[in-house]
Amino acid sequence: EKKPAPNFIRHIINEDIRTNKHNGKVATRFPPEPNGYLHIGHAKSICLNFGLALEYNGICYMRFDDTNPSKEEMEYVESIKRDVHWLGFDWGEGNLRHSSDYFDQLYDYAVQLIKLGKAYVCSLSPEEIRAYRGTLTEVGKDSPYRNRSIEENLALFEKMRCGEFEEGQQVLRAKINMQSPNINMRDPVIYRIKKMSHHMTGDKWCIYPMYDYTHCLSDMLEGITHSICTLEFEDHRPLYDWVLDELQTPCHPQQIEFARLSLNYTVMSKRKLNELVMNNYVNGWSDPRLPTISGLRRRGYTPAAIRDFCERIGVTKSDTCIDMALLETCVREDLNNTAPRAFCVQRPLKLIIDNYPEGQVEYMEAPWLAEKPALGTRKIPFTRELIIEQEDFMENPPKGYFRLQPNGEVRLRYGYIVKCVSVDKDPTTGEVLAVHCTYDPETRHGMPQSNRKVKGTIHWLSATQSLPVEIRLYDRLFNVADPDGAGGDYKDHLNPESMVILTNSRVEPDLATAKPEDHYQFERLGYFCVDEYDSKPTQLVLNRTVTLRDTWAK
Ligand code: ATP
Ligand code: MG
Ligand code: MG
Repeated sequence: EKKPAPNFIRHIINEDIRTNKHNGKVATRFPPEPNGYLHIGHAKSICLNFGLALEYNGICYMRFDDTNPSKEEMEYVESIKRDVHWLGFDWGEGNLRHSSDYFDQLYDYAVQLIKLGKAYVCSLSPEEIRAYRGTLTEVGKDSPYRNRSIEENLALFEKMRCGEFEEGQQVLRAKINMQSPNINMRDPVIYRIKKMSHHMTGDKWCIYPMYDYTHCLSDMLEGITHSICTLEFEDHRPLYDWVLDELQTPCHPQQIEFARLSLNYTVMSKRKLNELVMNNYVNGWSDPRLPTISGLRRRGYTPAAIRDFCERIGVTKSDTCIDMALLETCVREDLNNTAPRAFCVQRPLKLIIDNYPEGQVEYMEAPWLAEKPALGTRKIPFTRELIIEQEDFMENPPKGYFRLQPNGEVRLRYGYIVKCVSVDKDPTTGEVLAVHCTYDPETRHGMPQSNRKVKGTIHWLSATQSLPVEIRLYDRLFNVADPDGAGGDYKDHLNPESMVILTNSRVEPDLATAKPEDHYQFERLGYFCVDEYDSKPTQLVLNRTVTLRDTWAK
């Protein structure tokens, strides 16, 4: 693998190692909230955090940031683990954590803050708290409960924990500064009451710590050295530091912010992905059109292509929108080097070779991958009745059409040169039902005459000795680059042709042994992947990952 490019985070780490700031150690974490499936934006954070740990011989914890029991589920936890592993990263024995593992310690730290006079129980309603908080242009107002005694706060907090109050009746707040220009510092709530079971801790707790309070302490407890997050947390950093400073914790991780990934022609917020999934605009979180890791996987993206993409986009502090074409280029480049080649006819048209003996079969040998002879060869049966793509024949072609046409010759790749002699048509509709050809027996692939000049080369299959398959042609989910900014609701811009299903397609018989998630380049058509869920040995289902060339470029 290539050496990683320098970026501002690597620069900070190099400096910290030079000055021995964290005793030369590097510890990072990937902290998803298990309230949805991971997407390509998360992959950027995964590659960064796990990548840095590998590069600097450190640790990257896999931490579920599970402080909100109302939105979190085990299904999401399992999908996240699977996706991180699939991307090629391993947190290692003992490094799987949950914020909820720290609930006892977080509670003790909250008691300590109360004892330090740095936290208080506030009895304002949620609406009042919001109103007292002020705005960007208007400072906040102190809560009337701000000066409760330490004893009273300890007693009330204990009662909160014991379930003696209703949700919303009391909260625990940090006592910082209601006049701060930074709204996050205006006595933020650090604990709230939620009478709800938690997927890890069950009914042990009815108070749950808030994200900002939890995150810095979880980082500290794990000995994280560099706590990497996205730019919107820049304004939360003073709170991150305040909690650790007030508690005089034994170590103090450094929060570092980077720009989140955004991609055109898709949406990435969990709220929108959730809406698309729950309202069946797509078929579940693993729909091949979604930018989720499991969707990309099912579509035929490879871990190597996604890691390459994350390295190419780099890590910066300025928000930019990345072109979907770059992601597609990464998967094309990877699959071009690795995917075996095969023939598939998507929309068949019968081609009959009038002078080819009935019942005869020749097996045309072709490499699985010319660059990797070790992969061996495939044997494509050649028979009197073949199929070709409907679009590879035109009865009245425009100038410059070099595929099959009346009286024209074309090369059947790895087969023979054939000449069109007649056409069978439906007498009422005029639809072309079959094309009749003659073949030139001297032009079999590899024979001296096979190289004689013929302009067009097309792919083909035996009509009888090929396998029926279902082909799912996937394309971009939205037909505008910026679905959020294109006017109306983002869902108005869903691409109605993002999935086209073909049920008459066929592939080479050697694909009978294809396994779920195998990749192929179907010559002239694109890269395809055997569907992970719906494909069966008796009825293959293949998903188009990407076409061979970018058809969206202007
Ligand atoms: P959302 O706001 O859609 O819920 P999130 O950022 O809250 O997303 P988390 O599950 O908390 O989602 O994210 C886990 C980690 O992945 C965080 O550290 C976050 O910074 C990072 N991350 C999430 N989205 C992106 C993105 N688009 N680009 C880079 N990193 C991201
Ligand atoms: Mg979130
Ligand atoms: Mg988050």
